[in-house]
Amino acid sequence: MKRRKTKKIKLGNIEIGGDSPISVQSMTNTDTADVSSTIAQIRRLENAGCEIVRLAVPGKDAASKLDKICKESKIPIVADIHFDYKLALMAVKAGVDGLRINPGNIGARWKVEEVVKAAVDRNVPIRIGVNSGSLERKLLKKYNGATAEAMVESAEGHLKILEDQGFENVKVSLKASDVERTISAYRLFSMKHDIPLHLGVTEAGGLFPGVVKSSIGLGLMLSSGIGDTLRVSLSRDPVEEVRVGFEILKALDLRKKGVDIISCPTCGRCRINLFSVLEEVEKELLDVDASIKVAIMGCQVNGPGEAREADIGIAGGDREGILFKKGKVVKKVPQDMMVETLLSEVREMAKK
Ligand code: SF4
Repeated sequence: MKRRKTKKIKLGNIEIGGDSPISVQSMTNTDTADVSSTIAQIRRLENAGCEIVRLAVPGKDAASKLDKICKESKIPIVADIHFDYKLALMAVKAGVDGLRINPGNIGARWKVEEVVKAAVDRNVPIRIGVNSGSLERKLLKKYNGATAEAMVESAEGHLKILEDQGFENVKVSLKASDVERTISAYRLFSMKHDIPLHLGVTEAGGLFPGVVKSSIGLGLMLSSGIGDTLRVSLSRDPVEEVRVGFEILKALDLRKKGVDIISCPTCGRCRINLFSVLEEVEKELLDVDASIKVAIMGCQVNGPGEAREADIGIAGGDREGILFKKGKVVKKVPQDMMVETLLSEVREMAKK
């Protein structure tokens, strides 16, 4: 697939757009003013490979804690602000790496100018985040609803305000809660602009609908070359958003991040509690960033053969399981030692 050429911007130490890898981001769901909980969640996101984290900044309480949080975070922080230019100024001063604020909602021109000046001084990019649920009334009227065209025009209106002030350090998102409109809006925008795009299907729902909508929506856009950074929205622990984000990129061969775990669906031959074994292995290997294919298979009869392409794997048996590499049995292990043995072998392999 050919990636659409966009301008490159920098968010902290992460490049977005151009030929940079498509980055995966998430958003904390802690109260930003609660510094220790927020930092603890950022740490978990970092360990899961999250590359950019966005924090809601609803008021001064939260904004005044950003400096502490920025100092602790190893990944770039984006402050998500609605309307209030003073919060944006506080956030930039505190050291955030990016802002998500729609200039059309800030109000008077002088307020926008102050935000732009602060962003220029600290080299902080701004994301214009159009959401189908909060489009300007005049556009809803003009297009008879929140159509893809209305979303694109909304983004262009916000962009113009920044462009008029010579500010081009921007990226754009055009999120609708349904896949079709989201894709249409991004496609339409991509045909007209080379601004880097932050992909997402908003309010995608819980785990099942969220993963399906995001995989189809983001997958279709990415496979047609659209998208420079992404967030999967799930009504779940944000760490799961990061996992799904990377799985989408890995499935399209756009990123090689972390261990690739395959497992059998189980059948009447299965001799282990495969589902819980898989969950444990997935959790334990989250922090391993090596291109290794690991297989968890339910039985010794077919397991190693079915997972011949895996670098390493385990197959369940009655009292003992087996460890195999590239389809060949390496050793037998007592069943209660299977997971432990697999994990240490994978970590060993990752070191090499
Ligand atoms: Fe069934 Fe074994 Fe295949 Fe799993 S590996 S689906 S348990 S035959």
